[in-house]
Amino acid sequence: MNITQALACSSQLEQSSESPQADIELLLCHVIERSRTFLFTRPEYELSSAQAQLFEQLLQRRLAGEPVAHLTGVRGFWTLDLEVTPATLIPRPDTEALVEKALELLAPTAARVLDLGTGTGAIVLALASECPAWKLVGVDRVSQAVQLAEKNRVRLQLHNVEIVEGSWFEPVAGKYDLIVSNPPYIDPEDPHLKQGDVRYEPLSALVAEDNGLADIRAIAGAARGFLNPGGWLLFEHGYDQAGAVRELLSGLGYQSVDSAQDLAGNDRITWAAWGSPEAEPKVGDTFVGDRTC
Ligand code: GLN
Repeated sequence: MNITQALACSSQLEQSSESPQADIELLLCHVIERSRTFLFTRPEYELSSAQAQLFEQLLQRRLAGEPVAHLTGVRGFWTLDLEVTPATLIPRPDTEALVEKALELLAPTAARVLDLGTGTGAIVLALASECPAWKLVGVDRVSQAVQLAEKNRVRLQLHNVEIVEGSWFEPVAGKYDLIVSNPPYIDPEDPHLKQGDVRYEPLSALVAEDNGLADIRAIAGAARGFLNPGGWLLFEHGYDQAGAVRELLSGLGYQSVDSAQDLAGNDRITWAAWGSPEAEPKVGDTFVGDRTC
C-alpha cells in the first residue's frame, strides 16, 4: 500500500466521520511518523507491512467511532501538541476562544492565574506558553489527568505552571488575577452525549446537573473568595448557556459581565470582574498595548 492508496481510504469514513479526509491524514502521519507535507510530496511512498497493518487496525477503530486523538495519542491545541488519553476531555478548537480572551483580559506582566479542571492542561499550558511572566496553576480532581497535564507541562518545558490534584479550589490558596475554567456543562439528558467523540470521553469531564450549570455555579460562588479586586473569572460553557451564565454571575455580584462566540459562531465564553477594577488597575484594565510575550 502506498500513500495515495492509503489516502483513498477516506471514502470508507464518509458515513461515520464529519472529517474523513483530515482523519485519514492524521492517522497516516501517525503511522508513518512523518509530517502532513510528506503525504503530498511523496505520494508513491510504500508503507512497510507493519505500517500497513497498523494503519488498517486504526482505520477499523476509527470506523467503529473511536476519536482520532485517542488513536494517535495527540491533539494540536493553540500552538502546542498535547498528549491525550481517554482519562480526560480531548481539547477542542472552541476552547481557543477562551485562551484568546484570557490574553486580552490581563496584561502579560506578572499575574497569578488559575485553571480549574485542567484535563490535558490545554488552557493553562497555552497561557503559560504565551506569558512567561504569569504564574499559573492547573487543578484537576482526576489523578490520571493530573499526571497527563504534568507530562505535557514537562515535555513543553513550561516552568511557570504547577499542576495540582484536587476538587476545584480545594488544593489552592491565596488570590488570583484570573480564574479560568472549561468545566463539565452538558445536561445529563443531552442526546449529544450519544454521538461522536464524546461517547469515548469521561462523563465526569462532560456532564453537570442543573441543566449543565451546577459546576459553573459552584465555581463562580467560590471564586469570589479567590479573586483579587478587579480580578477576572472566565468560563467556557454550552452554546445555549451564555444568558444563564451571565445572569448567574450578575446575581453573585460580579461586574462587567460579557460573552463572546467561538470560531464556529456559537456563544461559548462568558467572563466577569470581581470587585472594582479601579481599585486595582493592573488586573482590572483590559490590556490594549503590544503584547510583549
Ligand atoms: N464542548 C464540548 C462538547 O460539547 C464539551 C466540553 C465540556 O463539557 N466542557 O462536546
